[in-house]
Amino acid sequence: MSTHDSARGLASLAVHAGQEFDPTTGAVIPPVHFSTTFAQDGIGGLRGGYEYGRSGNPTRTALQTQIAALEGGAHGLSFASGLAAEDVLLRAALQPGDEVLLGNDVYGGTHRLLARVLAPWGVKLRVVDMSDLDAVRAAVAERAPQVLWVETPSNPLLRITDIAGLAAIGHDAGALVVVDNTFATPALQRPLALGADVVVHSTTKYLGGHSDVVGGALVLDDDALAEKIGFLQYAAGAVSGPMDAWLTTRGIKTLDVRMQRHSENAGAIAAFLESHDRVSRVFYPGLASHPGHELAARQMRRFGGMLSLALESGAEARRFAESTRLFQLAESLGGVESLVNYPDAMTHASVRGTEAAVPVEVVRLSVGIESIDDLLADVEQALG
Ligand SMILES: *Cc1c(COP(=O)(O)O)cnc(C)c1O
Repeated sequence: MSTHDSARGLASLAVHAGQEFDPTTGAVIPPVHFSTTFAQDGIGGLRGGYEYGRSGNPTRTALQTQIAALEGGAHGLSFASGLAAEDVLLRAALQPGDEVLLGNDVYGGTHRLLARVLAPWGVKLRVVDMSDLDAVRAAVAERAPQVLWVETPSNPLLRITDIAGLAAIGHDAGALVVVDNTFATPALQRPLALGADVVVHSTTKYLGGHSDVVGGALVLDDDALAEKIGFLQYAAGAVSGPMDAWLTTRGIKTLDVRMQRHSENAGAIAAFLESHDRVSRVFYPGLASHPGHELAARQMRRFGGMLSLALESGAEARRFAESTRLFQLAESLGGVESLVNYPDAMTHASVRGTEAAVPVEVVRLSVGIESIDDLLADVEQALG
């Protein structure tokens, strides 16, 4: 039986999908293919369809197969970064004059791509709180967008959107429903099974998982859209290189166990912070006090490794972010090491003053897989 059997469990797919042993040597780990070009048996006689590294590479194919299997989609495509994946998706799905309805606390770079790169080419942008389906219904009734774009849990306020409910609203209006699944990963949530049309990833984060490789991916079922995306991937060229693809594949193999530990650690830190009197609010969907808790419990297998907290002022928040020791002050998220980020001046500086701005009191934590006692002690001393 093939090691890639789509009926297998997620942890098995993470290890085996796209990872058949090398038929010539038996190498259990498929080799990394660095070759930029592939010999032809007579003109046009390709072996396995490979011709040139931008159009296709076996190591990239392995990654694409692995990610598609995890998300349960027919087509997986990988890119040089998450934003390269988003750019290709938006250009494949939209024409000048079309509109995107975007969640109000999405990744700052997604807002910037739409507002500053695609808007000058005639793409319109409206922003709404996607976790409020009544607000989404009203926005769609006012004018039907071509794309609904949501992150759930959102960044950095960890709002939870009902993906099935959103998909129903989007599909009634004829819109493409896109879920950025970077925070949850397929280990915790599978948007296509809930009705979404396209899943977006920054594989730089949890999928790669070790803060050592930048990448992005799209997964979808629709053949016609996948063909357009595949054409742009090839024709515009923002592909993942073989070493990047291989590192990402290697990271993904441990996704399931990592997400379990990330979630356990984040849950413990969220509970500690909630009981601390210097903390005015904790944003973590695993807390019963979170407005999206019940929905998250239905929609997600666990609650993930991301959480945010609000302190009493912007100055307090900045001081906290600069006082942790084990949590390193850095952008990005989703690696095995814990990171602290001050969104207003770091990850979300590009959306300051827009509808997507983040309150100045908020600090975001990407909780790693270190020993929980050390993480708790670090947070406690930084608050003290
Ligand atoms: C980082 C991130 C992106 C952008 O991905 P890059 O790999 O940095 O281009 C998109 N969405 C979310 C949720 C992210 O965290």
